[in-house]
Amino acid sequence: MLIIKSESVFSGIAIGPLRFFKKDLAAVSHITVSNTEEEARRFESARALAIEQIGELYKKALNEAGEKAAALFEVHQMMLDDPDFYESVISMIREKRTNAEYAVSMVAKNLSEVFSSMDDDYMKERAADILDISQRVQKMLNPERYQPFTMTVPSIVAADDLAPSETVQLDRKKILGFVMSKGSSNSHMSILARSMGIPAIIGAGDELSEDLEGTLAILDGSTGTVYIDPDVVTIEVMQRKQRAARQNIERLETLKGQPNVTVDGQKIDVFANVLDLSGIDAALKNDAGGIGLFRSEFIYMESQDYPTEEEQFAVYKQAAEQMGGRKVIIRTLDIGADKQAPYFDLPQEENPALGLRAIRICLTRPEIFKTQLRALYRASAFGNISIMLPMIISLKEIKEIRHIVEEVKIELKHVKAIFNEDVEIGIMLETPASIIISDELAKVVDFFSIGTNDLTQYTLAIDRQNRQLEQFCDTHHPAILKMIEMATIAAHNAGIWCGICGELAGDLSLTETFLRIGIDELSVSAGMVLPLREKIRSIDLKA
Ligand code: PEP
Ligand code: MG
Repeated sequence: MLIIKSESVFSGIAIGPLRFFKKDLAAVSHITVSNTEEEARRFESARALAIEQIGELYKKALNEAGEKAAALFEVHQMMLDDPDFYESVISMIREKRTNAEYAVSMVAKNLSEVFSSMDDDYMKERAADILDISQRVQKMLNPERYQPFTMTVPSIVAADDLAPSETVQLDRKKILGFVMSKGSSNSHMSILARSMGIPAIIGAGDELSEDLEGTLAILDGSTGTVYIDPDVVTIEVMQRKQRAARQNIERLETLKGQPNVTVDGQKIDVFANVLDLSGIDAALKNDAGGIGLFRSEFIYMESQDYPTEEEQFAVYKQAAEQMGGRKVIIRTLDIGADKQAPYFDLPQEENPALGLRAIRICLTRPEIFKTQLRALYRASAFGNISIMLPMIISLKEIKEIRHIVEEVKIELKHVKAIFNEDVEIGIMLETPASIIISDELAKVVDFFSIGTNDLTQYTLAIDRQNRQLEQFCDTHHPAILKMIEMATIAAHNAGIWCGICGELAGDLSLTETFLRIGIDELSVSAGMVLPLREKIRSIDLKA
C-alpha cells in the first residue's frame, strides 16, 4: 500500500479504481489556414478513408450480426456521400479559411441540430449518426492524435491537473473522486469538485504515476490522504468512515427549512454557487436560499461555438423557474485566463490573468455581451434573476455597461419581448481597485458580491493556479479581511447589500468574522450550504 499525504479540496471518502485522464489531443481547435486547397484535399482524403472504413465495417456487421445491424453503416456511408455535407465543409474551408477539423465539426454540429429538432423520431436519431461520422472523419484527419477519454466504470479521476474545459467533458455520474498530482485549491478544477460535492485531493506529487492506472485507491478528503492499493484493514476503516460521513449528511439534512440565524438573532442569506442546471438541482436539494453565483461561462465552455440567445435563454429560464422566486444571480461571461473556449480565438498573452478576460471581452466584443444580456432579460420574466458583472475596476465600465443594457432593452421592446425592466445589476469585487473605490461603485449598482478567489490573487500578487506559491497564499491575510470590511461598509452606506461568493465564503473558521463585519450573504458550493447553516446557528455574537 502506498500512502500519499496531501491537500484536500473537498471532504468525503471515495473508494474505486484510478483512471488517468488522457489529454484529448484531438480536441478541435479553430485554426486559420493559408492554403485552403491543401486543406480541402486533406478533408477529401479523410472522407474517402472514412467511407472505405465504414464499408469494411458494413461487411463485417453483415457477416457477424445480419442485415439489420449492418444497415446503420449504410446510413453512415450515405451521410458521408451526401453532397450537402461535402459541399458545406469544402465551402467553409474555402470561404472562412478554417482547418478541416473545425469545418467538419461545425457542419456536423449544425446538421445534427437540424435533425434533433425534427418531429419524426427516426430523423431525430440521425443527429447522433451525424456526430458519429464527424468523429470518424476527425480520426482520419489526425489518426496519431486521436485519444478520446472515456470512463467505463465509476472511477477516481487522476491527472496532473485539469483545465475547466477538460473537467466539464467528464461523465459526472462516473466520477467517484479527483486526485491531482499538481493543482491548487482555488483553481477552477477545485471549485468544480466542490460544486459537484465530490471528494478531491490536490498536490499528490509524482508518486501518482500513470503506471497505477486501474489500481484500487481510497481518497480521504477529510485528511487529504490517498491510499493506493490499500490493505484489507484500511479498506474496512475507510468504509466505516464513509458510513459515518453519510450519517453526518443525514444529520445535516434535519437543518433543511431552518433559518440561517445566529443564537442572538442575526440573520444572513446562504446561497449556492453553480455552473449549470445540474447545480440548480444540487442547490435545491441542499435547501440553498438562492443562487449567489451562476458561472455562466460554463455554458460557453461546454459548447463548440458561441451559444445562441435561444440556447442561453432556455438555461436561464429553467434556472429561474426551478428556483421558483428565489434569487438567481447570473454572472455574465467570465471567460479568459484559465477558462478558455477555443472558438473565442483569444490572443496569446504574456499574463492571461492580467489580460483580456471577463468584462473586458464583453466590452470589446459587445455583440457577444448583447446576446447574453438579451437572453438574461428575457429569462427575467420567469423568475427572480439578477445580473452580476465580473472583474469590474471602474465607474467608466459601469457607465458603458448601462448604455449597452439600455440598447438591449430597446431592442427587446421593439420585438415586444416580455421582461423585467428592473433586473438588479450588481458587481463582483475581485480587484483591489474595485474595493478602494467601492464607496463610489456602491452608488451606481444594486449589490456587491466579493470574489475572494481573484481578490486574493490580485491583492497578494499570487497566481491562483500556481501550487508552488501555496505556502505564501494566506487566504486569511489581514489585507483581504480589511477589504471585505471596507466593501461592506461602502455597500451599507449606499443602502445596498454585500455578499461573498469566492471560496472563502465557505471557510467555517471565518463565519463569525463575516457575521461581525455585517456581510449580508454567503454563497458557497451546494454541499457547504447545510454545514454553513449549522455553523451560523451555533454562533452567539453577544457571548
Ligand atoms: C472569485 O474570483 O472569487 C470568483 C467567485 O470567481 P471565479 O472563481 O469564477 O473566478
Ligand atoms: Mg473571479
